[in-house]
Amino acid sequence: NEYDSEYTFRYADLTTKLCDPSQLRAKPDVSELKFGQIFTDHMLKVFYHKQLRGWQKPSIIPFENISLHPAAKVLHYSIELFEGMKAYRGVDGRIRLFRPDLNMQRMNVSALSVGLPTFDTHELTKCISRLIQIDQEWVPHSESSSLYIRPCIIGIDGTLGVVQSDSALLYTILCPVGGYFSSSSTSDVGVSLLADPAYIRAWPGGLGDRKTGSNYGPTIRVQKTAALKGLHQVLWLYGPDNQVTEMGTMNCFMFYVEENGQKVLVTPPLNGLILPGVTRHSVIELCEKWNEFRVEQRTITMDEIIKLSQSGRLLEIFGSGTAASISPVSMIEFLGQNIHIPTVEHAQPLYKRIRDRLAAIQYGHCEHPWAVPI
Ligand code: PMP
Repeated sequence: NEYDSEYTFRYADLTTKLCDPSQLRAKPDVSELKFGQIFTDHMLKVFYHKQLRGWQKPSIIPFENISLHPAAKVLHYSIELFEGMKAYRGVDGRIRLFRPDLNMQRMNVSALSVGLPTFDTHELTKCISRLIQIDQEWVPHSESSSLYIRPCIIGIDGTLGVVQSDSALLYTILCPVGGYFSSSSTSDVGVSLLADPAYIRAWPGGLGDRKTGSNYGPTIRVQKTAALKGLHQVLWLYGPDNQVTEMGTMNCFMFYVEENGQKVLVTPPLNGLILPGVTRHSVIELCEKWNEFRVEQRTITMDEIIKLSQSGRLLEIFGSGTAASISPVSMIEFLGQNIHIPTVEHAQPLYKRIRDRLAAIQYGHCEHPWAVPI
């Protein structure tokens, strides 16, 4: 068993060094915050040294810079992986994580693919929960905001060989974030996408389905190209038939009506090109449970989108992800053509119903096994 708990750090060994009261920083007004700019007072750190029997004891310490050897493998070969999850302050004041087990499992899968050490997922969840308890006043008192959690593991061997890193640092930092949908003016306008077959995010046999830093650096120039055209995000295509894979850093869903009047929700399958999103998984499970329309995981091509759009049978396209929850699409620019997507124009759109249901679970409006109190 690759996840054998013998080869993990343990919550029971956690040590804590708190900030001096004088070091505690003022909490910002989250409605003004850009994503990922302000961090909380503490962080979690766990070192791994193969020569010292692997994982060391976890510690929570005041937030600080980290010091690395200039040859550290993370800096040269992107030997690293990360996660993104959130803690929500519920209407009852309790703080909950959303399906943390899925993020922790995905983190181990990512670790294996870049030769970094795996760990017991429950132990890390407990350490992260303790970190959030310590910094609990940083979890916004607002239903349009949350605390973003960024766990990561970096390879820190100070040697330039392109080989496995025998030492690593797992750490977790936290930042309060405003909701993407905090103002109703921006929430339901819909985003515009650049779909250009010239740019490819993931390919068969690659790591596109893992959350490794090496997937993200190459997207920045393309995102800038989209922004220069006045478009919000990139719709990532693959293959000669222009398969739709993901949008920005979100999974992609399409809702349409078949010729016989049957409604279908479809999302691309986990074929190696798609990050297995926690939100994606949850949207599929919710909609299957509602059992009001068919839910399919199959390939979507640009041809299909164009044909459905021309015949008036395309209802909605939306993205799903931790950062923005559910994000409606209003337009796709594809090879000089602007394809209008009427996602936000319906009286009771599916994307909103899903978004509201997820928020109700996350902010504790109902008891649900996906929302785990810290
Ligand atoms: N695709 C990519 C490329 C991502 O980076 C993310 C964000 N983790 C997602 C999809 C959405 O995943 P999740 O629902 O787990 O946030």
